[in-house]
Amino acid sequence: MKVRDVLVLGAGSAGLMAALTLKRRLPHLSVRVVRSPEIGVIGVGEGTTPSFPQHFFDYLKLKPQSFYELAEPTWKLGIRFLWGPRDQYHYTFSYEYQNRQSDLPRNNGYFYGPDEAWIGPYSALLRHNKAFPRRADGMPHFHNRHAFHIENLKLVRWLETTSRALGVEILDATVTAEAGPEGIAALVTAEGTRLTADLYLDASGFRSELLGKTLGVPFISYADSLFCDRAVIAGWPRTSEPILACTEVETMDAGWCWRIEHEHFINRGYVYSSAFISDEDALAEFLRKNPQVTNTPRVVRYRSGRYERNWKGNVVGIGNAVGFVEPLEATALQVICVECSTLADSLIDSLCDPTPSLIELYNRFNTQAWDDIRDFLSVHYKFNTRLETPFWKACRADTKLHGAEPLVRFYQENGPSIVAGVQLLHSSNSFGMDGYLAMLVGQNVPHDRPYVPTAEEARRWRDHTVKWDAEARRGMTVRECLDALRGRGRPAAWIAPST
Ligand SMILES: Cc1cc2nc3c(=O)[nH]c(=O)nc-3n(C[C@H](O)[C@H](O)[C@H](O)COP(=O)(O)OP(=O)(O)OC[C@H]3O[C@@H](n4cnc5c(N)ncnc54)[C@H](O)[C@@H]3O)c2cc1C
Repeated sequence: MKVRDVLVLGAGSAGLMAALTLKRRLPHLSVRVVRSPEIGVIGVGEGTTPSFPQHFFDYLKLKPQSFYELAEPTWKLGIRFLWGPRDQYHYTFSYEYQNRQSDLPRNNGYFYGPDEAWIGPYSALLRHNKAFPRRADGMPHFHNRHAFHIENLKLVRWLETTSRALGVEILDATVTAEAGPEGIAALVTAEGTRLTADLYLDASGFRSELLGKTLGVPFISYADSLFCDRAVIAGWPRTSEPILACTEVETMDAGWCWRIEHEHFINRGYVYSSAFISDEDALAEFLRKNPQVTNTPRVVRYRSGRYERNWKGNVVGIGNAVGFVEPLEATALQVICVECSTLADSLIDSLCDPTPSLIELYNRFNTQAWDDIRDFLSVHYKFNTRLETPFWKACRADTKLHGAEPLVRFYQENGPSIVAGVQLLHSSNSFGMDGYLAMLVGQNVPHDRPYVPTAEEARRWRDHTVKWDAEARRGMTVRECLDALRGRGRPAAWIAPST
């Protein structure tokens, strides 16, 4: 298979990110995208992880300026969990659980008491609704341990503009697939025009037109770990609420609710299990919690899982067309980044003539990456003791941990030690040991090696937490950061992600 031209089916975030990545990394390729104006895009997917800026600004070396101008993101430094027995706790992208203070013998996870409000400087900032530390000149002290919140349609707009500027062609048509010996022979428009290519990317969303429907690749369900299958979504224009620099996730009767922060809009979504609550009752619970909602709530149905392989014949699936898990850790766009970069690197290294062994490795790596996220999310459900509803009792009793089992057992026997991370985590795991510790220590999951710090250690730890508190109080809110930067009229300098 010599790849000279690529046809992408779908122009949601997945299709456009794939087209943009391939055109940027392999400019000699012809890259076309076909999308259906009638079907449109899913229009959700607004939280990201640090993989997102790394992909665009480090790997693809795009300039952040147009992204900030067109996509209008706000910064996300982590997640606030209203989850488990603590009032709240934060999982930041700054490895605060596995970090160790130089004057203490063990990592922070051992010292984070059940009544403490933060475990490091970044969770202290989030606890005080701040985003970045304040520099002496009044500007924010930026760092690259952040991700973004972005309204989906604005993200798609930026992706489309950038893709076109790089030479990607975008066609409007609803197509059907014609099968052939290699997999797909053509995509055919309603008028009968046949669109052909060497390689087809299936980014058709949940429809999975090529990989699932036409090629019949089997679907592997994650329903024994992730019981939720629907979300009701709505929001309201921001009034006086502070812009949080984190996504908030809140335990609900039959699932959980996100709160995503845009500059002018607050977006909420209740992810629930239809086996435990009806759509009507979920909507009623959602509206009780969010009486400010102004737009009409909509329900999205989904199934958690992935197709058996990402790449079959001349078809590679990207995004929802190949797998989906709920956005509890906002991982979908991260997975798309990895799918796109591994595809581009595979084509580059194989001189656009991918070999069977390379395709096999591509499939193994990307399918394991999905399973790895399923495993991490299962830990969120297995140990959340906040509510005694039938849903949460079932989660604690029946959630299958799959690949997370050895890591959880290690924690239960040894406590928040970081020794296990390298051995027990898959190479694609972006959460690291810190992610697991955040969920296990954050939810006060008991273990067999409780550590009692000496009086001197306890004093040193307290000194650190007091210092983080003082620094956080001096920190800047998202609003102040936006104003300070815009006041200087230099949005291009907002972030240099690698610094
Ligand atoms: C409730 C919910 C919340 C989410 N929250 C997050 C989050 O916070 N963070 C995150 O990273 N991800 C999140 N996601 C996932 C995220 O929305 C998607 O992974 C991402 O937007 C990619 O979608 P997509 O491009 O695969 O599909 P879509 O946006 O559905 O795009 C499919 C494209 O295919 C086209 N198409 C389909 N069939 C045809 C056809 N026959 N002919 C022509 N064109 C066709 C459509 O027109 C469209 O352009 C969430 C998902 C859901 C359901």
